[in-house]
Amino acid sequence: MLAIVLAVLLGNDLVRDEAIAHYARLFAESGYGRLPRERAGFLLRERDGGLTFAPWNVSDFARASYQGAIPGNAIALVHTHPSSHSPLPSARDVAEARRLGMPVVVISRDGVTVARSKGGVEWLMSAERMRGRASETARGPVSRHTPLLR
Ligand SMILES: [Zn+2]
Repeated sequence: MLAIVLAVLLGNDLVRDEAIAHYARLFAESGYGRLPRERAGFLLRERDGGLTFAPWNVSDFARASYQGAIPGNAIALVHTHPSSHSPLPSARDVAEARRLGMPVVVISRDGVTVARSKGGVEWLMSAERMRGRASETARGPVSRHTPLLR
């Protein structure tokens, strides 16, 4: 039992219920993948261990590159893919994960995937699991960041 509790406490923040609630909300803002626009932002770990989200002021991640200061408590860059795109991180997403030194999470109608900072791509969860958490309350954004377009 203790082992299970520890596994939960020390588990991967990217698959915690709080993170999933942020994913679900961002995906809703992208029109559930039906709209051509993408939404993006940073997943932040607060001092109390809670997870908050700092959305970007940009609707087209595909043509944007983040060059501003990355929040010190950011643990992942999260963005959506329209349904017309692959659910997997693009070659560019993989390159961004390496460049930023943090995982790049992709949310699509097929589920959630991630490009790891040291290379490699994984499935984090199914779309069903994300939808199951969609009704849970996510904390509001704590700040806004404006990326500089390259
Ligand atoms: Zn992408």
